[in-house]
Amino acid sequence: MIAAAQSLPPATPLDPTEVVRRIRAVLPSSETKVALHEPRFVGNEKAYLVQCIDTNWVSYAGSYVKKFEQALADACGVSHAISVTSGTVALQLALHMAGVRAGDEVLLPALTFVASANAVVHAGGIPHFVDADAATLGIDPVALAHHLETIAERRDGEVFNKATGRRIAALLPVHIFGHPADMDALNAVAAQYGLAVVEDATESLGSRYKGRPCGSLAPIATLSFNGNKIVTTGGGGAVLTSDDILADRLRHLTTTAKLPHRWAFNHDEVGWNFRLPNINAALGCAQMERLDVMVVAKRKLWDAYSAAFADFAQGRLFAEMPYAKSNQWLVTLILDKGYEAALEPILAATNDAGLMTRPAWTPMHLLPMYAGNPRAALPVTEDLVTRLINLPSSPFLAPA
Ligand SMILES: *Cc1c(COP(=O)(O)O)cnc(C)c1O
Repeated sequence: MIAAAQSLPPATPLDPTEVVRRIRAVLPSSETKVALHEPRFVGNEKAYLVQCIDTNWVSYAGSYVKKFEQALADACGVSHAISVTSGTVALQLALHMAGVRAGDEVLLPALTFVASANAVVHAGGIPHFVDADAATLGIDPVALAHHLETIAERRDGEVFNKATGRRIAALLPVHIFGHPADMDALNAVAAQYGLAVVEDATESLGSRYKGRPCGSLAPIATLSFNGNKIVTTGGGGAVLTSDDILADRLRHLTTTAKLPHRWAFNHDEVGWNFRLPNINAALGCAQMERLDVMVVAKRKLWDAYSAAFADFAQGRLFAEMPYAKSNQWLVTLILDKGYEAALEPILAATNDAGLMTRPAWTPMHLLPMYAGNPRAALPVTEDLVTRLINLPSSPFLAPA
């Protein structure tokens, strides 16, 4: 006789204070209240900002904008970076340039920050959520291919969702917490269906996939310089591309589509005012001078956490894929199956102890405005969010 499968209680009980102790063992003792991720301005930030004010160049025109864009393009291995006021508008622009139009569906992970989905809506599209791969945290290419086989229908050289009748225009992979999604496999699925690909590299500046920088893995990609990203401009973002024509179009559209003239105000399209001011770019220039140093520090911090949790019986640190070199934007602890009930007590104990930890984002399909959106089966996403905790990850927390 075969016994019915039973859900056994976890073998080793989990004491939340043990997680507090292991995190504390990694952090400098001088750090009592620790944020999830915060910047430190220890380079040329102040000098460059003072220069903006002294020279009166604080707005959209100014030498730091060009310098910052060049530094971004160099770091990401692309020809052009167009800096804008946020990562969200960078995504909106990128999706627009990729051909997303009113009523089109865009495939993106349910496990992402809400800005990815919001940008699809701002571009006129409809977010269509797909599942994550537990090994990468990004979109699972096999599950994506399977989902498309089930729901996609080709008509007149385009792909439609059989259930909704709407065109599926694009795929938006996100490199979650800095970890590169499996872009070769995702690009192959997109190519098979003729989908445009926009790379959401907002969390992965400085990360590499098979030696290639994140931000260079699709024809168009985006960055964010929000206050908690690896490089911050206070707020800001960028669109990356190696397509000269696309870059010209982006610069034109983000500066009100104004035609160059010595004095006349002529505009040939409905444009946007999305450019990054020079004062923000000045901050970004100083931050970019330290990008490599910060990536090294963040990887060291991951190593230190990894050692501190090596003999932790009830979970493990999420580790990068062999193909990846992650910027380790956020260090992620994943509890073993069976310890879901310990998630909230660990979040409470760590935050009570002055250690800012955070769970995964509420998956997009569980947010009220996206509850009715098209989606694939999401078993991996729904499982991961019950067991995932991000640990304090600022680069200055790394051991010397
Ligand atoms: C930060 C982020 C964005 C963009 O955010 P902004 O705050 O608008 O700069 C988009 N997608 C993801 C996954 C992000 O983490």
